[in-house]
Amino acid sequence: MRDERTADVVIVGGGVIGCAIARRAARGGLSVVVVERATPGMEASWAAAGMLSPLAEANGPGPFLDLLVRGREIYPDYAAALREETGVDVCYADAGTLFVALREEDDEELCARWRWQSAAGLAVERLSASEAREAEPALSPAVRMALRFPGDHQVDNRALGPALWSAAARAGVRFRLGEQAVRLLRAGNRAAGVELAGGERIHAGAVVLAGGAWAGMIEGLPRPVPVEPVHGQLLALEAVPPMFRHVVDSPRCYLVPRAAGRVIAGATVESTGYRKAVTPWGVRRLIDGAVEIAPALEHAPLAETWSGLRPGTPDGFPILGLDPEVEGLVYATGHFRNGILLAPLTGETVGGLLCGEPWGAEMAPFGIERFREE
Ligand SMILES: Cc1cc2nc3c(=O)[nH]c(=O)nc-3n(C[C@H](O)[C@H](O)[C@H](O)COP(=O)(O)OP(=O)(O)OC[C@H]3O[C@@H](n4cnc5c(N)ncnc54)[C@H](O)[C@@H]3O)c2cc1C
Repeated sequence: MRDERTADVVIVGGGVIGCAIARRAARGGLSVVVVERATPGMEASWAAAGMLSPLAEANGPGPFLDLLVRGREIYPDYAAALREETGVDVCYADAGTLFVALREEDDEELCARWRWQSAAGLAVERLSASEAREAEPALSPAVRMALRFPGDHQVDNRALGPALWSAAARAGVRFRLGEQAVRLLRAGNRAAGVELAGGERIHAGAVVLAGGAWAGMIEGLPRPVPVEPVHGQLLALEAVPPMFRHVVDSPRCYLVPRAAGRVIAGATVESTGYRKAVTPWGVRRLIDGAVEIAPALEHAPLAETWSGLRPGTPDGFPILGLDPEVEGLVYATGHFRNGILLAPLTGETVGGLLCGEPWGAEMAPFGIERFREE
């Protein structure tokens, strides 16, 4: 039996990012330990809405859009592989996304998006009000126009977390659950493992920081990890029979239809530190935004409210790749609003890096050195 206290790689954090990296590294032949202080996949990864939306998320062409699009492209095969490995269906649904204008001031935002996206050759269609309502009859008569992103889809993130956890475990990853990593161990200029809250040490030649909004909160790091919690509240309404096919987005609210008829409405974007509370302010905003898109939702039963902490960064882009000075220290955090979309790609790229594969030039813009103080 392997010694529990040594591994090739120790990963701090068992959200979708940590589990996807663990799965890939273990499939590449490495011995991997994931340290998770609670239950894998139960923080931001559970709270998310599951949209896979590069075109709604990126504000222009560039490396970030390219990353999101690559993340989206590998999803169908990745979801199929997870089902094969674990039997868990992550409910990848490919009906596309409608981005709707409901007020005069929304038109400019949609038109600007349409201009740069069509100039960049992305798959985007411009719909008139009547075409939008034909595509989604439950839309408000106030709808003015819409963009249709036929390639932007969704997945059930509450299934994705368990699927990745299970796939990683089946690939041989060892999970240390209920354990908190408190310190990075170093041997000179090399990462050498982590120390747990009880004092136990797990020795490893590589350490991956994948703790989401908490990724910077361990001692001994060579530099600050500029990740901040960004609170998001959501709620779910029961709409049976299902009211929408597409994910429907507006400048104030998005609606994500789940297969059984549930509609998720999200999400607030708040700086509340590490406090996760569902508030009347948040619920009111979400209900107002949902009913503005689809007035019939006003009478739908309110099924659930919840919230989570996105790992935000100063520029909104993830932090990925090796530390420039401490060998074997790897960052995989800061996925902000796109960690569900980017989990498979982060798993493949960062997991591949751990296995000795090259780190492509397209990943360079996401290194932590971009935050280096002059
Ligand atoms: C309201 C909301 C809506 C969202 N909607 C979408 C969406 O539609 N599409 C999309 O792509 N993304 C969305 N996101 C973003 C996405 O959820 C996150 O980017 C993603 O889940 C981050 O995954 P993670 O594994 O890095 O973090 P998390 O899921 O937060 O996991 C981090 C894990 O690390 C553990 N941990 C931290 N520190 C330690 C330590 N020292 N020791 C041990 N364990 C530790 C925590 O317990 C936790 O389990 C949304 C997020 C929120 C909050």
